[in-house]
Amino acid sequence: MFNKKLITDVDVNGKRVLVRVDFNVPIKDGKVEDDTRIVAALPTIKYLLDHGAAVILCSHLGRPKEGPDPMYSMRPTAEHLSKLLGRPVAFSEECVGPVAEAAAKALKPGDVLVLENTRFYKGETKNDPEMAKQLAALADMYVNDAFGSAHRAHASTEGVAHYLPAVAGFLMEKEIKYLGEAISNPKRPFVAILGGAKIVDKIGVIRNLLKIADSVLIGGGMANTFFKAQGYPMGESLVDGEALETAKEILQEAGPRLRLPVDVVIADKFDNNANTKIIDVGAVPDGWAILDIGPETVAAYAKVIKSAGTVVWNGPMGVFEMPNFAKGTFGIAQAVAESQAVSIVGGGDSVSALNQSGLSDKITHISTGGGASLERLEGLTLPGVAALQDK
Ligand code: ADP
Ligand code: MG
Repeated sequence: MFNKKLITDVDVNGKRVLVRVDFNVPIKDGKVEDDTRIVAALPTIKYLLDHGAAVILCSHLGRPKEGPDPMYSMRPTAEHLSKLLGRPVAFSEECVGPVAEAAAKALKPGDVLVLENTRFYKGETKNDPEMAKQLAALADMYVNDAFGSAHRAHASTEGVAHYLPAVAGFLMEKEIKYLGEAISNPKRPFVAILGGAKIVDKIGVIRNLLKIADSVLIGGGMANTFFKAQGYPMGESLVDGEALETAKEILQEAGPRLRLPVDVVIADKFDNNANTKIIDVGAVPDGWAILDIGPETVAAYAKVIKSAGTVVWNGPMGVFEMPNFAKGTFGIAQAVAESQAVSIVGGGDSVSALNQSGLSDKITHISTGGGASLERLEGLTLPGVAALQDK
């Protein structure tokens, strides 16, 4: 259940509304490459504009290390949004401070302003109250619509909510509803699929999934870490040493619900044109690396997926960016698409793999959140949601 106030529960007419969006999108040559996340925020932005608000948008983009960096400017997102909305969108080169304040003051109802990257300021990730107050000074009300960032307590996702009336946007509500229902009352069998490369971030989720899911299918770099924990030499395969102990514990606790690949594709280089072999799981020869799950594994997983009632998927099964190691990921995408299950796919790379496969429209819900979706699955509260007003 979503028990937070929504933008429809408050009066936004004539107000300046600061909206935390997730415009953390891929940018190439000053252009937005994939606008999924911007499009996902449109319902909230349009609602506010249609109801007499002036909209101020803020977001982070990438991980700039030391202050302002043109590589990570929000400007291309403002330009892209202007095209999507069919109206001018102003841009402030500062996120907080006098420049941003002047830009915010100049807004009239129906105007839109995009602020520069929140992460150009140290106070953002530290959740510095000063930065939160400066953000709050720009507006009369705060809306959080950045589901993908809600697992982080930063100044723009959590801190600012303490200094302004704070409510949720439509995207936030939708994401939480889908995931919440999938976890609390899933149509069974409930099948979770986990892969990808962010192993330390995600391995904890497996534990919780084993309690609520009927099957947990592992692939990608995540599987390698389990093979290593079983004692197999892994060659050059991606393995996360930090996650090994947890992997060992999970192997001991987990019963038959946890499924690991039975065969894998190995390569002698991290290159699409490498020599490749399909081997049963076991020792990986020196100098070789596992880059995909094998065909027997795809067939076995597909069988489980096709009879599922609910499927939640995060993390590609292999290095799908290279066509020769994309068969596992696309095979699983195909199975999910063909299944009658309620399907939820989340994670930047997973969604991009799904888009490449051309099967996105066969998925019930494509989540904009990676880490955030997983923390929901882990049963953790999202700080960016907790800080909003209760209904
Ligand atoms: P998401 O963005 O969907 O949350 P991650 O960021 O955790 O997923 O992981 C995506 C990355 O994992 C992809 O770039 C893919 O190439 C990589 N990956 C998947 N399997 C392997 C593997 N066996 N070895 C190395 N990298 C892998
Ligand atoms: Mg990723």
